[in-house]
Amino acid sequence: MAKILIIGNSSSGHAAVAALVHKGGHEITVVSGEPFCAYRKELLLEYIAGTKKEKELFIAGDDFYRSNKIALIQDGEVVRLDAKRRRATLKDGAKLAFDYCVIASGTKVPLPDVPGKNKDGVFSWGTLRSAQAIKQRLDITHTACLMGDPLLCKSLAGILRAKSKEVRIIASPVPVDFAADEFVEWIDSLTVSEIIGEGVELRAIKLSNGKAIGTSLVVCTGPRLASTDFLKETDIALASGFVVVDNSMRTNHERVFACGNVACFQQSPVVNKDPSVAGAEGALAVTTILTELEGSQSLCQQKS
Ligand SMILES: Cc1cc2nc3c(=O)[nH]c(=O)nc-3n(C[C@H](O)[C@H](O)[C@H](O)COP(=O)(O)OP(=O)(O)OC[C@H]3O[C@@H](n4cnc5c(N)ncnc54)[C@H](O)[C@@H]3O)c2cc1C
Repeated sequence: MAKILIIGNSSSGHAAVAALVHKGGHEITVVSGEPFCAYRKELLLEYIAGTKKEKELFIAGDDFYRSNKIALIQDGEVVRLDAKRRRATLKDGAKLAFDYCVIASGTKVPLPDVPGKNKDGVFSWGTLRSAQAIKQRLDITHTACLMGDPLLCKSLAGILRAKSKEVRIIASPVPVDFAADEFVEWIDSLTVSEIIGEGVELRAIKLSNGKAIGTSLVVCTGPRLASTDFLKETDIALASGFVVVDNSMRTNHERVFACGNVACFQQSPVVNKDPSVAGAEGALAVTTILTELEGSQSLCQQKS
């Protein structure tokens, strides 16, 4: 029985877990940076729109982990990976030993590095926790400001507009099919220089030309960066922060694999993989690991 550690529990991490469960016989530990079971991030817009209920987002429930004897560590960020000693360190200092590790830590959207970025009402897009908070915040929002990824801003603006919110989008370039109206304005030649508030409460954003826009909701949708801070002190090969893998999803360490948005082939990252592609990569990583384990098992049997 091998100890297999999966870091990240979204499309690719969950697909890796599902492939392991399907074969059975190994000790599986999943560390998730989020306080939930696996869910589908690609449905978050529909959740905000109200066309999907929260429970419809989930791919697996508590019973999946319990019945398959999977140790799921929620809200349990890996802060260091020692590939040579095959050991991961969690933010609470706990250490996890592994025989094989699958990195499925995806991407994240850091808040822009401007004064006031930590005020209440400023959110980074991409997790259920932030989507819950954004949805709640809409009750008190008249004008929302969106920045970052133009296409995501446009989709989110359409949803907020349908809820009769005014929207200001600060992003570039403007999508060719964008049509401004009295609710939605696109500002593509300026950036946000400051987030203004009273105490911790958000009141406005200040643009690079000095103009202020009153708002009680700011959502940052990009750019997306690889979630690989925990690999900084390792010699795992990275390209622009993404983990370089071969065709079987193996990194330059033979017992460490990567899949999904965090993984890149031949030095060229694809930041937003389709969830089915991310899932297929997770399953492929596990197939490679299981084939290798079966091979070493039959070698041992031949020797004895
Ligand atoms: C129509 C459409 C809409 C989409 N909308 C979105 C969207 O709104 N938001 C979005 O993010 N993607 C979206 N996607 C992209 C898609 O969901 C991703 O391609 C998919 O989520 C990739 O999954 P992943 O497993 O590689 O990584 P991710 O989904 O990024 O998940 C990585 C997980 O790893 C966890 N993690 C990161 N670092 C650590 C650590 N150190 N320790 C433990 N856990 C860690 C994170 O908390 C996260 O849960 C969309 C795709 C499509 C096709």
